[in-house]
Amino acid sequence: MALTSFDLNARDGRARTGVIRTPRGEIRTPAFMPVGTAATVKGMMPESVRETGADILLGNTYHLMLRPGAERVARLGGLHRFMNWERPILTDSGGFQVMSLSDLRKLTEEGVTFRSHVDGSKHMLSPETSMEIQRLLGSDIVMAFDECPALPADRARLEESMRLSMRWAARSREAFGDRPGHMLFGIQQGGLERDLREESAQALVNIGFDGYAIGGLAVGEGQEAMFGCLDFAPGMLPEDKPRYLMGVGKPADIVGAVARGIDMMDCVLPSRSGRTGQAWTRRGQVNLRNARHADDPRPLDEGCTCPCCQNYSRAYLHHVVRAKEMIAGMLLTWHNLHYYQELMAGMRAAIAEARFAAFEEAFHAGEALGDIERL
Ligand SMILES: [Zn+2]
Repeated sequence: MALTSFDLNARDGRARTGVIRTPRGEIRTPAFMPVGTAATVKGMMPESVRETGADILLGNTYHLMLRPGAERVARLGGLHRFMNWERPILTDSGGFQVMSLSDLRKLTEEGVTFRSHVDGSKHMLSPETSMEIQRLLGSDIVMAFDECPALPADRARLEESMRLSMRWAARSREAFGDRPGHMLFGIQQGGLERDLREESAQALVNIGFDGYAIGGLAVGEGQEAMFGCLDFAPGMLPEDKPRYLMGVGKPADIVGAVARGIDMMDCVLPSRSGRTGQAWTRRGQVNLRNARHADDPRPLDEGCTCPCCQNYSRAYLHHVVRAKEMIAGMLLTWHNLHYYQELMAGMRAAIAEARFAAFEEAFHAGEALGDIERL
């Protein structure tokens, strides 16, 4: 029997629910992956992240290769042991962040040379080095090395970039080799252009991957354009493999992506918002900095079972946000991750019971209500 697998349990419209099996545990889909950029989900203990319902975390190759370094992580027993998270980890390839964060990039057919944003040291990322770094980290789901152009980009640039990414996808597959228990995902590119997306999907399927990501979205094109692309892009990828939409998103983006056949997502939003006093609830976004909460003894969300909502008032949250106390980010990140995971669990149940359309309607009705009346 294969050490990894993906089984679809139910479909409802284009939405799907299933499970990815790996030696480190099962990933229930649709899945939301909290982002542990530098071997930590900021402000959260790993056991608390698990309590929110997360089956898998995302780690960033670019950050980890620069600090503390992939060889060091490998010597210390791999990323799972290093950060005390024994469940599955997906690592990105570094391609996206090298383009957005590093200085003095030079892009060639071979790969990208760049200077570290941490200390200015010089590095090279290529399909081969990215596969090696992700192997050293011990990642369960490895991403092919790609180039992600910022949108808007003209068609010639998108086409050239997509074809380079497909040549890099073939080199990633070759360099990854045969690693039982680990999965390699290819990344579809092509911007918002249907024919380029199709060409990219075909190239990836010909190479053959364990899963397929949709890259190059959520880079500033807006929700309507993203959904427009998701109306056709997932259908170009194999039915029987997981489909991962990278870097998405707000709760409404996530619900819309699942409705269009996406199985996995990741985003810094719930943790990053938590550190800036922003909460996501079934009634939309709440800004705890707002003075209206200063005397409010009610919890953030009365229906939420997270420790933040069970034990603390809006008044307390407002106070610790304003006072810049560390616990503010800790509590709000916990609540946000809990809310995101509850949203995923709700969608999985709705798809399994063939009531996803009703779930989606109720979700939008809740967000449209807005926050509870002020006292
Ligand atoms: Zn809560």
